[in-house]
Amino acid sequence: MKKFSLLLTLITLMVSTAYSQAPTYQLYALRYASMKDATPTEVWSLNAPKADSVKIDFVIWLIKGSNGKNILLDAGFLSDIPEAKEFNPVNYIRPDSALLKLGIKPESITDIIFSHPHWDHIDGVNLFPNAHIWIQKEDYNFFVSKAVPDENSGFNKRDIAEMTALNAAGKVTLVDGDNQQLFPGIRVYTGSRHTYNSQYVQVTTGADRVILASDNIWVYYSLDHMVPASVGGTLDPDGYVKAMARMKTLASDIKYIVPGHDHQQFLRFPAVVDGVVRIR
Ligand SMILES: [Zn+2]
Repeated sequence: MKKFSLLLTLITLMVSTAYSQAPTYQLYALRYASMKDATPTEVWSLNAPKADSVKIDFVIWLIKGSNGKNILLDAGFLSDIPEAKEFNPVNYIRPDSALLKLGIKPESITDIIFSHPHWDHIDGVNLFPNAHIWIQKEDYNFFVSKAVPDENSGFNKRDIAEMTALNAAGKVTLVDGDNQQLFPGIRVYTGSRHTYNSQYVQVTTGADRVILASDNIWVYYSLDHMVPASVGGTLDPDGYVKAMARMKTLASDIKYIVPGHDHQQFLRFPAVVDGVVRIR
């Protein structure tokens, strides 16, 4: 009898440990702006046919854990950032307002994973006062290395100042390289080199593995045809294609590889409310 109860305790312990290590996640894409007109696909994907066009959205992704974690991949931009003008964004709502559509208040975002520090992904960082930040170390160091960023770098001075302050306040973890687990079931990978060392996210939930690529795949055309981003979209075109091949092994289904800016993601997954789809 004693042995039996010991065994039972052990089993209970093992089961509860397994549960605490394996939260489930709900994944959402939230659109907070769009480019007004469709653009030639060749702007985003190398050597795409001249006649092809693609609708471009600006997106953040929410990873909502059964363990109470509300994790964002990227934080979007604020409407006053000068770089936005070039893209003529329409239907802009502040990224934190987009989250309110799911009943998520900005202060309940626990973490933000940054795929890379371009203005349209990082500028909204201070909308989420309680978030801890995760960014690749080499990407961060390159980003903050110049007080005044180069033109066309995609880096904004305000964002550099804000990230430097957050880092000094101990709110940033610099992730050291490829294939790192940040949370149970959530890993990040490098290799696409959209920026100096951009990262993408794999979420394992239940039997599925989802890849949130952000700008490590700009649009579906690149994934469908295994072609790199067009000029300016990667520092390493071969690495970009290799990374997509790897993503295919890291996702449980190709449908679960989600590009950064392609409007199609809002058509391929079921809508929850206007501008929000449930990926998984
Ligand atoms: Zn982007």
